[in-house]
Amino acid sequence: MQEVYELFNAIGCCSFATRDGENGIDARIAHFFAYDDEGLYLRTMRVKPFYRQLKEGGVLAVSAERTGAPCSWDDDNLPHFQPGYMVRVSGEVRELTQAEVDEKAAGNPLFNVAVYDINKYPETVVFVLHRFHGEYYDYDFNMVHRDHKILRERFAFGGDSFVPAGLSIDPDRCIACGACAEACTHKAIFPTDDGAAYRILGERCDECGNCFHVCPAGAVRSKGC
Ligand code: SF4
Ligand code: SF4
Repeated sequence: MQEVYELFNAIGCCSFATRDGENGIDARIAHFFAYDDEGLYLRTMRVKPFYRQLKEGGVLAVSAERTGAPCSWDDDNLPHFQPGYMVRVSGEVRELTQAEVDEKAAGNPLFNVAVYDINKYPETVVFVLHRFHGEYYDYDFNMVHRDHKILRERFAFGGDSFVPAGLSIDPDRCIACGACAEACTHKAIFPTDDGAAYRILGERCDECGNCFHVCPAGAVRSKGC
């Protein structure tokens, strides 16, 4: 939990998205102010739509990006991103009682800011994102620091689950032609140890679909179809 908190905390302000009613969505900039074994903590005020949406929907999605420098554009109007990372989590929230906030504040200095806000703005309330899945996505698209573009890691807390990143190859259908490895600009595809097939490293795969597109044997599998 600490690792995930620190990834968000190093960025500061992040996009917090909620459901609004049956079909609506909403988003605003906010931040997690604390973590512990139960989850990641955020605060808002009872009078805000954010509060109503958290109470009614009970779900939250948070995403953010930390870049080394702003994106630049070349003469062909193509973007170039400096190395950085993105992090996202999605899951279920619940509101804490005042007694729970007091108890946590007694043992966790990160809660000082919540206590301060509650004293200054009495409509302040605290929520915890307690059951969630997410992803850390480290990118180096120009391969400045390593020989592949991305390194992603998925995780889950509080009993939630996640779908592993990346496409996969069915070894029973693969004829080991190598076309997919040639088409992969992310250096995510390698022969298996016995050379009888190819395999995809999910942590490097950006799910661009090039391997799916070129495979003559229909061996590449998407998680979405
Ligand atoms: S989907 Fe794209 S990034 Fe992933 S293995 Fe296939 S070609 Fe490489
Ligand atoms: S393109 Fe298809 S058949 Fe050829 S190595 Fe890749 S997965 Fe196997």
